[in-house]
Amino acid sequence: MIKSLLIANRGEIACRIIRTARQLGIRTVAVYSDADAKALHVHEADEAVHIGPSPARESYLVGEKILAAAKATGAEAIHPGYGFLSENAEFAQSVIDAGLIWVGPKPSSITAMGLKDAAKKLMAEAGVPVTPGYMGADQDPALLAAEAGKIGYPVLIKAVAGGGGKGMRLVEKAEDFADMLASCQREAASSFGNAHVLIEKYILSPRHIEVQVFGDSHGNVVHLFERDCSLQRRHQKVIEEAPAPGMDAATREELCCAAVRAAKAVDYVGAGTIEFIADGSEGLRADRIWFMEMNTRLQVEHPVTEEITGVDLVEWQLRVASGEPLPLQQDELSIDGWAMEARLYAEDPENGFLPSTGTVSTFDILAPNRTETGIAKGDTISPFYDPMIAKIVVHDMNRYEAIKKLHKACRNTQVSGVKTNAGFLARLVGHADFAAENLDTGFIEHHWPDLERPKRLREDLLDDAVTVLLAMSLSPMRGHWHGPSIEHSYYDRFEAEPWRQTFGFRLNADWDHTIAMNVEGDTVRRELPDDYLSRRIEARSRSDGGVVFREGEALIVGNRWDNSHGGHGGDGAILSPMPGKIIAVEVAQGDTVTKGQKLLTLEAMKMEHTLTAPFDGVVAELNASAGAQVQVEALLARIEAAAEE
Ligand code: ADP
Ligand code: ADP
Ligand code: MG
Repeated sequence: MIKSLLIANRGEIACRIIRTARQLGIRTVAVYSDADAKALHVHEADEAVHIGPSPARESYLVGEKILAAAKATGAEAIHPGYGFLSENAEFAQSVIDAGLIWVGPKPSSITAMGLKDAAKKLMAEAGVPVTPGYMGADQDPALLAAEAGKIGYPVLIKAVAGGGGKGMRLVEKAEDFADMLASCQREAASSFGNAHVLIEKYILSPRHIEVQVFGDSHGNVVHLFERDCSLQRRHQKVIEEAPAPGMDAATREELCCAAVRAAKAVDYVGAGTIEFIADGSEGLRADRIWFMEMNTRLQVEHPVTEEITGVDLVEWQLRVASGEPLPLQQDELSIDGWAMEARLYAEDPENGFLPSTGTVSTFDILAPNRTETGIAKGDTISPFYDPMIAKIVVHDMNRYEAIKKLHKACRNTQVSGVKTNAGFLARLVGHADFAAENLDTGFIEHHWPDLERPKRLREDLLDDAVTVLLAMSLSPMRGHWHGPSIEHSYYDRFEAEPWRQTFGFRLNADWDHTIAMNVEGDTVRRELPDDYLSRRIEARSRSDGGVVFREGEALIVGNRWDNSHGGHGGDGAILSPMPGKIIAVEVAQGDTVTKGQKLLTLEAMKMEHTLTAPFDGVVAELNASAGAQVQVEALLARIEAAAEE
């Protein structure tokens, strides 16, 4: 068995790997960038090596720095986690060339599956059904358009080198093809350095079903059943579960055997995932499930498989990398109960899922079986990395019980300091159509009216806030909570942190039972709710005010407000909400614009963000050009209000 392991990653996955390594008696080495100097994974590893500045390009993605850190600490093996260098065949080879153990598949397997077109050809040869489409080398736009016509609309254009939900365009009709192709190629060239695309039939009622496979260096390959990852936003998974709802034993057998064939075709060693797309319009049928791609690494959602099989996949990875055979054979593996995972993101679902940065001042995920995270209260979510802050994992005897557990965990999640999708997750998991197994990858989009934060919830939160502020104001003591006796009916989970003198919200001067408070930058005046004395409120104090929680949602009230998600001030200044790259400028200086009109598109944190005009006016200033990198809060444009008539 390996004795020492360097983990070339950060966040929850680094912590996850460290946990198993420790159980196996393996010494662990973490690496970290400037932004992660105080991160949990650094704290939890036996040793840690600083590898450079915050941007991943200058730290986590620099193979030489990782190798140097391994050398300096005498680490014997390198585990890449997911993302970053995990699917980089050259890096894998350089690890092996340096005489170290690569905890992953052979570089040749990574290469074989690295490009989606080559992988599909290979899979078709191995007898694995692949999504119908064009995967040729000829990239002549006229030929591609003709192929799209042959496949039949709607089609999906995909960057062959794409990943992470990027580099894909859905085309509904022939007229749009040329524009979509150009934009897809542009994104592919800039994000993946490879403009080649393939074209696929766009599957209607698509369900994302994937199979966990595992190989060892003795030629054995097993599968650990399937996962359903159909709940996605922007082609990125949000909720995953295992097994897949509606999968019968015969279909499962056929699908999982195809996955094992796929893995064997590339001599696969270690943990891998074969992703399939299924046409779920008439339930799951083996003849309507097609190979999409293979991820040659440990997957984000691997915990749901661990929960139903009882296998520690990281342990298997480390054993296999040490040359041991697979601990279990296919007939020793079986499915126990049902597991689900929800990805908790620092983001604002009501604002296009815009990632949210800031310092996490409350971080409580209550009562699930298992939480995977790489952050702790007080940590800062920076704009440099993926905004996932935790995975909430549950396991129970059946799907119904698992849903109940996950729903409760999401509802009770209390995070403040950054916006999160906890409330959104709660509504998603609690949706009747999810319970009814009525799912496809368009679920979130189609059900959006049911999933966005209901008006009522915000009103309730405001009522709660009024009560909390009132109670706070009644407290004569600044040092500790010594409020009036009504306290206990309010504060279920109230933390008596020392108030700071600077704390202050404005109570109405003449005490007419209204209260003015600063809510997310706006002054909101509310009357005291009649029943305020009997309310039970989940609240926390902060140095700059209070936070109230309900159903996974948090509302910060107080007198200070840090404008962490940027946007515009009332002055018409259009600021960059985060560091990123301008990918489109829709207006020119001097243009007349109307409120809500699209001004610029910014690409940051794996997503595109549209910045719009805050009011009617004229583009008085424009400092943005397509392709430019911009810093957070850079002044990109300024809109001058149209003169009042
Ligand atoms: P999965 O199918 O496991 O969700 P994704 O392709 O969405 O896989 O990516 C997995 C994870 O890898 C993401 O959640 C993200 O954390 C990370 N990741 C993806 N692309 C990158 C990248 N270019 N740089 C750093 N991390 C990335
Ligand atoms: P990535 O490398 O970015 O993960 P994938 O090829 O795995 O790209 O596709 C990501 C997601 O896009 C899938 O999970 C699915 O939701 C959707 N998708 C991909 N191919 C198709 C298709 N042919 N028809 C419908 N949806 C698709
Ligand atoms: Mg994928």
